[in-house]
Amino acid sequence: MTDTVLDTIPYDVDAIRKDFPILSRTVRNDKPLVYLDSGATSQHPTVVLDAEREYYERHNAAAHRGTHLLGQEATEIYEGARVKLASFLGAARPEEIVFTKSATEGINLVAFGLAWSLRPGDEIVISEIEHHANLVPWQQLALRTGATLKWFKELPDGRLDIDPSLITERTKIVAVTGQSNVTGVIPPLREIGELAHAVGALYLVDGAQLVPHHPVNVQELGADFLAFSGHKMLGPLGLGVLYGKYAALDALPPFLTGGSMIEVVRMEETTFLPPPAKFEPGVPAVSLAAGLSAAVDYLSALGMDNVAAHEQALTAHALEALGEIEGVRILGPLTTENRGGTVAFEVEGVHAHDVGQVLDELGVAIRTGHHCAWPLHRTLGCQASNRASFYIYNTHAEIDALADGIRYAKKFFR
Ligand code: PLP
Repeated sequence: MTDTVLDTIPYDVDAIRKDFPILSRTVRNDKPLVYLDSGATSQHPTVVLDAEREYYERHNAAAHRGTHLLGQEATEIYEGARVKLASFLGAARPEEIVFTKSATEGINLVAFGLAWSLRPGDEIVISEIEHHANLVPWQQLALRTGATLKWFKELPDGRLDIDPSLITERTKIVAVTGQSNVTGVIPPLREIGELAHAVGALYLVDGAQLVPHHPVNVQELGADFLAFSGHKMLGPLGLGVLYGKYAALDALPPFLTGGSMIEVVRMEETTFLPPPAKFEPGVPAVSLAAGLSAAVDYLSALGMDNVAAHEQALTAHALEALGEIEGVRILGPLTTENRGGTVAFEVEGVHAHDVGQVLDELGVAIRTGHHCAWPLHRTLGCQASNRASFYIYNTHAEIDALADGIRYAKKFFR
């Protein structure tokens, strides 16, 4: 295994960057890469790449199946990752961790399961600032069951208007984002959970932008379900996590079905294993679990409090630097209070794609478009925006490079 920053100093961005091979490459025009798109997907430290490679070089086998040594090792690696995730989130037991493909799949898993029990007249509550991954599955659930979809409205500063009257005796599930992938807004998650539970509704938090960036303890959060993706938290693409309170998972019918999730199969009917196996059909993605496990180790060693503090400092810097540029409109709150490290903005008179292209020429990678949050943009009166999103390896110099790039784009298109 490669030495990492974790063997040296607690939090040192320059040292952290050395753990990420991709950050030392150059991009267009031989410019150093300034990667400000971790909200879309994060980069990977060598320890994560090594963990996947080591799995394939030494242990590759189908977990939960072979009686041979490799099969046992693969099972241990996979189940070990589950235990690690449970501890990272403060879950009551490892069986509360279900491996999925992604946050999207985790949310669909819950929405699909509820299709068996929701009835016309039941209500589903979401919010207007959701990523489509936490919106479309609920629309589909409403269509399938005749339930009504309701949502908390977005305020002009991007925050949510938590109107308690939206939640009624008919509410069956409340599903909200843990942190907006556009404005960085962090809704009052515990308060929303209390409103949901007061009427006996389930509560799901879309943790795709929350878990990678903040300390999260599921006992304190109070959610019945928390879905997130490994690839946004230094882990491999293709593996997500659905945390569920054991009783909530136990009550939910399976989503995908097939091998490995069954108890007894007859031609007439099948009974299912208890969670988490009930939700994990097929041969498990052990190499991805090995990578995610290493990613969790890496983040845990840094300390999620330190991660959050670092990103907060970067966000404060970005809000100030971009706020000083005439014609730049930041979408969402202008302070770092209850707000994460994602800064979306418009540049007056310059289309978001043009801004993105000029920045790309300068080596600065951001995201442009509606970021899978179309209703949010519509409410803020904006077709498409630019989004810079920060992570553990970003530096203050990179924020300055972003601001310089925006100034250059403005001049270029004047
Ligand atoms: N929810 C939020 C807030 C997101 O930002 C994303 C991805 O950008 C998702 C859900 C979906 O994540 P994935 O595409 O990994 O399933």
